[in-house]
Amino acid sequence: MENQVFSFDEGSSELKALLGGKGAGLAEMTNIGLPVPPGFTITTNVCRKYMKEGEKVLDQINNQILTNLKILEEKTGRSFGDATNPLLVSVRSGAPVSMPGMMDTVLNLGLNNKTVNGLIKQTQNEWFAHDSYRRFVQMYGIVVMDVEGQKFEDSIEEFKSKLGVKYDTELDVNTLKKIVIKFKQIVKEETGKEFPVDTKLQLRMAIKAVFESWNGRRARTYRRLTNIPDDMCTAVNVQVMVFGNMGDNSGSGVGFTRNPSTGEKCLYGEYLLNAQGEDVVSGARTPQPIERLNDQLPQIYKDLEKFAGILEDHYNDMQDIEFTIENGKLYILQTRTGKRTAQAAVKIAIDMVQEGLITKEDALMRIEPNQLEQLLHKRIDPDADFNVLTKGLPASPGAASGKVVFNTDEAAELGDAGEKIILVRPETTPEDIHGMVASQGILTSRGGMTCHAAVVARGMGKPAVVGAEELRIDLEHEVFYVNNIEVKKGVIITIDGGLGQVMLGEVPMVEPELTEDFRTLLNWADQVRKLGVRANADTPGAAKNAMNFGAEGIGLCRTERMFNVKDRLPIVQEMILAENEEDRKSALDRLLPMQRGDFKEIFKIMNGLPVNIRLLDLPLHEFLPKLEDLLVETTTLKLTGGKAEVLEEKERVLKKVMVLTEHNPMIGHRGCRVGISHPEIYEMQTRAIFEAMVELSKEGISVELEIMLPLVSEVNEFKFLKERIEKVANEIMEESEMKIQYSVGTMIEVPRAALTADKIAEYADFFSFGTNDLTQTVWGYSRDDAEAKFLYDYIEKKIIAENPFETIDEYGVGKIMKICVDLGRSTNKNLKIGICGEVGGEPRTVGFCHNIGLNYVSCSPFRVPIANLAAAQAELKNKK
Ligand code: PEP
Ligand code: MG
Repeated sequence: MENQVFSFDEGSSELKALLGGKGAGLAEMTNIGLPVPPGFTITTNVCRKYMKEGEKVLDQINNQILTNLKILEEKTGRSFGDATNPLLVSVRSGAPVSMPGMMDTVLNLGLNNKTVNGLIKQTQNEWFAHDSYRRFVQMYGIVVMDVEGQKFEDSIEEFKSKLGVKYDTELDVNTLKKIVIKFKQIVKEETGKEFPVDTKLQLRMAIKAVFESWNGRRARTYRRLTNIPDDMCTAVNVQVMVFGNMGDNSGSGVGFTRNPSTGEKCLYGEYLLNAQGEDVVSGARTPQPIERLNDQLPQIYKDLEKFAGILEDHYNDMQDIEFTIENGKLYILQTRTGKRTAQAAVKIAIDMVQEGLITKEDALMRIEPNQLEQLLHKRIDPDADFNVLTKGLPASPGAASGKVVFNTDEAAELGDAGEKIILVRPETTPEDIHGMVASQGILTSRGGMTCHAAVVARGMGKPAVVGAEELRIDLEHEVFYVNNIEVKKGVIITIDGGLGQVMLGEVPMVEPELTEDFRTLLNWADQVRKLGVRANADTPGAAKNAMNFGAEGIGLCRTERMFNVKDRLPIVQEMILAENEEDRKSALDRLLPMQRGDFKEIFKIMNGLPVNIRLLDLPLHEFLPKLEDLLVETTTLKLTGGKAEVLEEKERVLKKVMVLTEHNPMIGHRGCRVGISHPEIYEMQTRAIFEAMVELSKEGISVELEIMLPLVSEVNEFKFLKERIEKVANEIMEESEMKIQYSVGTMIEVPRAALTADKIAEYADFFSFGTNDLTQTVWGYSRDDAEAKFLYDYIEKKIIAENPFETIDEYGVGKIMKICVDLGRSTNKNLKIGICGEVGGEPRTVGFCHNIGLNYVSCSPFRVPIANLAAAQAELKNKK
């Protein structure tokens, strides 16, 4: 086999895929002259081969291992397995990406009844030698021989209680010797095998165990959650042991070169004297804050600060370091890029630019856009203590507490009166909007990431957990159950929409922080990006949020949301139920001033910027009472002999609802199809828009007006409606003797629109991809049901890799988008193209949109900063 074992001084950062993160870091530190105990790395290739071919791979690399072991012996002047001057090693995992604590490690390897005496001679420290032996048998027993760890813990506790001591460090030498004997007995009893004496066999078995731990349950679960490919595999590092447990002049610790929580520039971390690495993380003894080391071992503290500085300069990023002090000498055992909070990520990136360590471009590339979400919403206090009652989909980030209320009207009433409410519903519909507005957060038992509750909550920036399927909601008795736990109306719960968690009671929270640094970063992103970033906003409140978060316009104003306001619904229903044109017009006449008022308010806020108004897009029956409710009501009225006029009216509504009800409403009579059946609706909306423009122009206010048609699939639909819009616009311009600039375009939400984009683009000024519907229609997956019913099962079973409603399906939906862009621009080279579906603010989708040449993305106001950063990153990646 070609060389698959690299000594630390042969490796480098470039070989990370082969040597793993830890191996590459150790090699790099060795090469820049930091005090790293010598060692070697067995590559990830060997692990991959081991997975396919099994143990014979270890025979194939045996000579390479022995050669490297020899080098270690030469470097240290010790011999592996020698009874007088033994070499001890650690055997550690290290995948190319950090998988903290997910795989196994064995320390103090090379000890047996003979070598332990050699260790005593070497160190003149009997206690230390037996403590190390005890640790080795325990760790090897667990990791390599699969003995349950608790067996050792119980035994050690027995010895401690016999002696009446609390800590392992208080055990005397004789007891340690007895513990080693006992531990070996436990191994024999549990496995039927003797504890191995041969140190070469110990090493071989430990390497094998580390490879095996790649497929351990912890590691597999972690990989699934973090999308790490299964064939990435781990490397194995064999390194000369340095001992932190040699007395109070020794110790182990972990440190960060900057504070990972706040980003502040200072050494941050913990350590323990007379301890090995696992003692610091195990929680058995409480570690000391790193500043104390300055009092206890000042020279070591100085060295640590110096090495931290060298490492940061070398890697140009905040580092997370593991160190050991052996008899007053400091060794660095690991360095890796430190994980950090969003707040720290932003501060560190900005500070490092100011310190001249990195460029603004580097700073922009450093931050994970999704992480910014943490800074934009209230969130659960990271130090809070709580139990999770149940989980659902993390539909809209942020945390909220409030009283459980099931009835929407009641939620609205209580909310308006200042009570904090969590609206709990099986799912929400447009009729629930007023209750949602008045609530702190929304919890539903059904629905997916693009269901009504999710979309509306994200638009409002309200936390929401949807599709919490364990919830059994009994609306009649106003109670929900999770397993056997009963939660009645009025009980306080907390939801975390970022994690999809539901908790009983009020869990402490912390406020979002829009720091100066955060704004600076967003300014830098603005200077770099080419892609526009707009917001989806249906109300003046959302428009204000959009402006606050730096949106460059509104990319989608859904007008049906304006119809769904409580006092307007009866008029909308009247319009739908109208038996003749005249009655319909009368209802529309009353809606007109309301719509005009809405538009005026939004235009004022967005003064000068683009505003895209989408004409009505909703199946009409959604504005009417539910069929089931009407059936119950009419039957009850009949049985109880209710008033004839009331029954007659209910029956009239019921008849209409039955006429309007469809089997597949989402691909039914909605969008422009309703506009074509009832042109007077769109005409009223157009009038409201242009009248608002006329009135505002007198105050010197204007916007870049775009009027958008929903669900177009055929060019003639577009032509038919555009003509009507133009007619109304011309009338108003003539009446007012004013010229108003505007454009008319369409959503692209069905495959046929995309595939005939060349024809449509001859008439349309712009396109906007409605990827909620486009994903639904391309996949044939219901956007309202798929996630709750089967999508996550599909992901689990690897039928599909990702949820196409959360991030763009480049290969399918993306392909259609690309075809559409090319066709559209082939007949209209000035065609402006954007996206306004929910994925529009998701960083990878933003990158994709940049690459296929869209002009802008539009997303919920709270995602605007994320999209800004993602757009800047897309541009920087392309430049590279
Ligand atoms: C879409 O379909 O992506 C879209 C933005 O429209 P809506 O969600 O209102 O159907
Ligand atoms: Mg749509």
